[in-house]
This record gives sequence, structure tokens and C-alpha cells, in this order.
Amino acid sequence: MIHQYDVIIVGAGGAGLQAAIEIPTESRCAVLTKVFPTRSHTGTAQGGVSAALGNEEEDSWEWHAFDTVKGGDYLGDQDAIETMCKDAIRAIIELEHMGMPFNRTPEGKIAQRMFGGHTANFGEKPVRRACYSADRTGHVMLQTLYEQCMKNDVTFFNEYHVMDLIIREGVCRGLVAIEIKTGEIHIFHAKAVMFATGGYGRVFQITSNAMAGTGDGFEMAYRNGVPLEDMEFVQFHPTGLWKLGILVSEAARGEGGILRNKDGERFMERYAPSIKDLAPRDMVSRAIYTEIKEGRGIEASDGSFYVGLDLTHLGKEIIEEKLPEITGFAKTYLGVDANEEWIPVQPTTHYAMGGIPTTIDAEVIVDENNTTMPGFYAAGECACVSVHGANRLGTNSLLDILVFGRRGGKKITEFLVNAEFPELPDDASEWTQNTIKRIRNNDNSVKMIDVRNEMQFTMMDTCSVFRVEESMKEGLQKIKELQEKYLLVGIDDKSKGFNTDLLEVVELGSLLNTAETIITCAINRKESRGAHWREDYAKRDDTNWLKHSLIFGTTGSTPDIRYKPVIIKQFEPKERVY
Ligand SMILES: Cc1cc2nc3c(=O)[nH]c(=O)nc-3n(C[C@H](O)[C@H](O)[C@H](O)COP(=O)(O)OP(=O)(O)OC[C@H]3O[C@@H](n4cnc5c(N)ncnc54)[C@H](O)[C@@H]3O)c2cc1C
Repeated sequence: MIHQYDVIIVGAGGAGLQAAIEIPTESRCAVLTKVFPTRSHTGTAQGGVSAALGNEEEDSWEWHAFDTVKGGDYLGDQDAIETMCKDAIRAIIELEHMGMPFNRTPEGKIAQRMFGGHTANFGEKPVRRACYSADRTGHVMLQTLYEQCMKNDVTFFNEYHVMDLIIREGVCRGLVAIEIKTGEIHIFHAKAVMFATGGYGRVFQITSNAMAGTGDGFEMAYRNGVPLEDMEFVQFHPTGLWKLGILVSEAARGEGGILRNKDGERFMERYAPSIKDLAPRDMVSRAIYTEIKEGRGIEASDGSFYVGLDLTHLGKEIIEEKLPEITGFAKTYLGVDANEEWIPVQPTTHYAMGGIPTTIDAEVIVDENNTTMPGFYAAGECACVSVHGANRLGTNSLLDILVFGRRGGKKITEFLVNAEFPELPDDASEWTQNTIKRIRNNDNSVKMIDVRNEMQFTMMDTCSVFRVEESMKEGLQKIKELQEKYLLVGIDDKSKGFNTDLLEVVELGSLLNTAETIITCAINRKESRGAHWREDYAKRDDTNWLKHSLIFGTTGSTPDIRYKPVIIKQFEPKERVY
């Protein structure tokens, strides 16, 4: 079946919905999503969304921009960061007008809390900048944006799994999707396509990400010749629930929570004397692993180690009013009452700093000279603008999706004024058909779950918080072997409708190819910066590495890595001390 729309947006998280709201109703726009819109990962965001409103104390967008640049270890593009931090204030007020139920100050203003790496006066002391709705900020944001889409009569194709982009002669012409309910293939012919497909956390064994975070958008772009930027930068959030990886928001530390080692010591005082537990995530994750490595972790009954997140001094009222969700998770999944005991935590794979390169208007960039591809846009976690550089600050992603989702929607609207439907090739669905045929015809001797487990273990083991060349090379070798094995993976369930076995195999293909780009770029970058920490190159090296990496390569070929300069404006790179 062939559909024609002026614009197709893939993804119904914050970025996709915010973009859809901007497309005027006279244009035909549809949103495709593999999960029901309000189940997108944005809905799980807990802690907050940043904007220098200054409602609780003095703040300014320049301080916010400085913190974002420094937090990202000077790899972020400062033009994009300025754009985001300036626009944050408008974005929050707009959400408030849409009806988002923020927590309030006693005078009725939007309340704000502290978060990691957000400071006053260029690093002097922590500042209250995160706007929040208890610890369900993403949930209410997604519901609010979805309501606006309903109001604007946006067309949704829910539970459509996008399989391939149609790119010919450097022009994006639409995409191919499977309708999950029927198993039918649909071709969507479009003047403009926007990817807002979220992250890839499921590449790793321990992650805070939803099951759907399988990197499909990154992989589809890459498979069709679009480079990926800064893929080596993977954020590990310091406080995942021990062994499970379920997130315990930084808001817990924003409200005064303290990390403790087995001696009860507040160890962050040694690593970041000025902002302690509110240091950026990369630093806190490394500190936790260092404590464990040096014998100060807390030993669990199974012989593994964690550290404690101490909220016991906050009092029941704060916990119930501001942190109900995460303390509920601790109770439900680990049987821990946060009022009485420390929550056992360990770092968990959380966020993709890298992704599909874009301009500040979400236009996809295809080379190191910033050439854009007509008709293709990307925003949100799958995109790399780059505002987060080498390490994202908490609360800056919910902001990123609002600001760049909206800018993308506006840019597409401009593009549509003169755009025509590009020609649709006859072989548009060939790759999709062949892939489905292969998976269906394989005998099921190689199991999806075995390949996926091995990949997730390998990535966790060789390419997580601390990295070293030799082990990463072994990891890459293993990923390549798994890519070969993957071609033999089959399924028992041969039915057409709701064949989740088949789609999980498709997702595994995305995960494996995304894993390859991450580890290849991590081997290539011979310095330590932000979340990319090389034990064999333990220093940041601005002389050789103050640049973005772009990995090119269609699957099967040896990837080519090229570079793009970092845009520096008012903040010259300095040593990163907190
Ligand atoms: C537990 C958790 C807590 C977080 N808390 C915060 C926070 O407090 N503050 C903050 O700033 N950030 C937070 N983040 C990060 C932030 O929530 C995400 O980065 C952001 O919401 C991503 O939004 P998105 O719109 O890019 O994608 P998502 O919300 O991830 O949505 C992706 C969409 O793409 C669709 N999709 C993907 N692949 C396909 C395909 N093949 N076919 C069809 N559809 C597809 C999915 O169905 C989905 O609709 C948190 C993240 C997690 C995991």
C-alpha cells in the first residue's frame, strides 16, 4: 500500500510531537510510531526540564549556556547551545500555556530545583534551574504535547514499525514501514521526513532505556549513507537501581540526596569539592566505579558491588511530594524503603550524545562541510545538533526535544512552500522485503536472544564507563562475529499479524550496527573527554581532538571516519574542574 503525505514524522516522543504541532493544518502531516504515542520514552523522564527562569533565585541564559558547554567538556557547538538556552524560557512558558501541570512555588510561579552541573555565575555554586512536575516531568510533558496534537487533528499511524528510508540520488523520498497489527508493508511517499526516533540504550546490558530504545533511526540513516556524529559519547547515568538499571533521577540529589560508600563517606566531596553530588554525570559515574575498584563499594549478597544513595535525612514529606515515583521503584523492585535505608545504585546506560548530524534547524547534514540532504530532518535524542557535546547535563534533553523539535517543524513548513513530491523508485521496499524473507526462511538454529545477550554483555564489558584499546578491539571483533551470526537468526512464530518475534530480530539488526559505530568511534578517539574515558589516553587533548567525528559507511564496508570543527563562541576551552 502506498500513502502520500507532505510530511512524515517518525517518533511520537517529545521531539516528534513538538514538531508535528508546528506543521500547519493545511499541510498533510502524519506521525508514525512503533509504540503507542504516550508510551514513548519521553514519558519516563523524571527529574525536570531546564530553563533560566530565575523563579527561585537569580539565573541567566548565559550561565545556562556556560554550564552546558563546560558539562559537555567543550565539544558542544556553542551556536546551538546559545540557541537552546535562550529559547528555553519561551519553551517552558509555552508548555505552561498548553496546560502542563508544573510544581509551583508558594507564590504560584513554576518551581525549580537543582540538578547536576547547573550553576550560578559561571560555576560558582549550584542553582535552581530545573522546572519539574514531581518526578514525572516527562510523563506530563508527553501528555500535554499529545493533547495539542489531538487538538490540531494530527494523523497518527500507531504501531507502525519503520524499516527503511527511501533515499535516492541524495534526496529523501519517504520511507517503508510494517503495520504491526497485520504485518503488511506500507510505503509512505513524502516531501519531507523527520526522524525523532529516540535513543539506543538497549545496545548495553544495563540501561535505563525503554525496550523500544533500539537505535532504529541511527541505523536506518547510517545504512542509507548518512554519517553519524560523535557516536563514541554514551552517557552512563550514575544512579540506576542496582542490577536493574531502572533510573533513580538526579532530582534525588537535587533535593539533597547523598552518595555514600561502604564507610558511609560522602565520597563526591573528594572528586568535586565545590558541587559534590551535583557534579556532571560522567564524573559521578567514574567516581562510583573508582570507589568500587578501590574496595570502598558495598558488597551485595551475590558478590557484586554498589554504592548507596542516602535520602533518609530528607524527611517523608519531601520524598512523598517530590520523589514519589523513584522511591516507589526502590520499594517495588528492591524492597528498599528510602525513608529508612540507602538505595543501592550503580551506573546505567542512559543517553546518546551522538547521532544523526543536523543544523540548528534539524536539517540532516551528510558530510564534514555541513551539506544538507533535501527532505530529511532529525531532532531529539537520535540527532546530534550538537548541544550536549561529550556529556549531557540532566534536564537538557527534555529542553533539546522542545527547542529543536519546534525549529525542525518550522523549517519543514518553510521547505514545503516550494517542495514537490520527489519521484518514488520502484524498488523502494526491496530491502524490507528481503529482510523479512530472510528472517522467516532461516531455520531457528541461531536464537535472537543469544545474539542479543552476547552483544549487550560485550558492549558493557568493553565499551562502558572506562575504556581501553585492547579490550575495545576484542569487543569490535565480537560484534562483527555477531553481525555474521545475525544473518542466520530465525523465528518460530511465522504468523503475519503482531509478529513481535520478527520485529525483535529486526531491532537486533539495528542494535548490532549501532553498536559497531559506537565502538569503532570509541577506538578511534585517542583522548579522554566527557563520557568517553580512555584509561590508555587519560587526558583531554584539545590540540588533536577538539573536533566532532563523523562515521560513514554502509553495513559491510569498513567505516570511514572524518571530522568537523567544534563551533566555539564565547567560551574558550578550559580545564574542567568542579
Ligand atoms: C528513565 C529516563 C529518565 C529521563 N529523565 C530525563 C529528565 O528528567 N530530563 C531530561 O531532560 N531528560 C531525561 N531523560 C532523557 C529524555 O527523556 C530523552 O532523551 C528524550 O525524552 C528523548 O525524546 P525523543 O522525542 O527524542 O524520543 P523518545 O521519547 O524516545 O521517542 C522515540 C519515538 O520513536 C519511535 N520509534 C523509534 N524507532 C521507530 C521505528 N523503527 N518505527 C517507528 N517508530 C519508531 C518510538 O515509537 C517513539 O515514539 C530521561 C531518559 C530516561 C530513559
